[in-house]
Amino acid sequence: LRGVIALDGPSGTGKSTVARRLASTLRSGYLDTGAMYRAVTLAVLRTGGDAAEVARTARLDIGTDPLDPTVLLDGVDVAAEIRGPEVTLAVSEVSAVAEVRRILVDQQRAIIASVVNTQGGIVVEGRDIGTVVAPDAELKVYLTASADARAQRRTRQDTAAGRTATVEGTLADVQRRDNYDSSRAVSPLRKADDAVELDTTDLDLAGVLTSLLAIVDS
Ligand code: C5P
Repeated sequence: LRGVIALDGPSGTGKSTVARRLASTLRSGYLDTGAMYRAVTLAVLRTGGDAAEVARTARLDIGTDPLDPTVLLDGVDVAAEIRGPEVTLAVSEVSAVAEVRRILVDQQRAIIASVVNTQGGIVVEGRDIGTVVAPDAELKVYLTASADARAQRRTRQDTAAGRTATVEGTLADVQRRDNYDSSRAVSPLRKADDAVELDTTDLDLAGVLTSLLAIVDS
C-alpha cells in the first residue's frame, strides 16, 4: 500500500509498537506525532517558556525509520526523557494549545509529504491523523482497548524501560489523559468517520499486526 496509513487512538492500545512493526513490514516510513508533542512539552518544562513560542523556536528532528525512530530536540537525543513521568503528566495540556497544534501539524504534513515522495508510504500514529493531519489518508485505523488492558500494557512498557509504575497509577494517568485529549476544544481525540475500528483488548502484538495486515490487504 502506498501513501499514508493513519493510526489513531488513546494511549495503551499498543499503537506505537504496532505502528513501527507495520511500517517495517510494509517497508514504509514511520512518524510518531506523540513524540513531537512530548518533545515540545519537555522544552516547555525546561525553559518555563510560553508553549506556542517554544513550539515555534524549538528545533525538532524526528526520525522516520521504524527501526530507529530518533527524537532530537535542538540536536540532542531526548527519546528516553520524553517518556518520563514529568512529560507524561504535562503533555496533554501543552497539546491542547491551538497554536502548538498548528505549528506541529504543519511540520507533520511536511514530513509526511517528503517521506511519501521518497519512500512511497508512511505509517503515522497519533490522535488526530485521520481527522486533521491527513484526512485524505489511504487507510485510517482507530485502535481501542479497555482501560484495564491499556493500563496493563502501559505499566509493562514502563517497567521494561526501567521506570517504576503500578497498574493503578497508570490507569489513573491513562484515564486522565484520555479525558483531557477527548474533551479539548482543538482536534479532540476521535475516530474519523471513515476509519476502521480495531479493538485490541484481547489481542497480543502479533494478533494486532495480523489484523492490521488483513485490513491493509482488503
Ligand atoms: O502517543 P503519546 O501517548 O506519546 O502522546 C502523548 C500525548 O500527546 C497525548 O496524550 C496527546 O495529549 C498528545 N497528542 C496529540 N495529538 C497527536 C499525538 C499526541 O494531542 N497527534
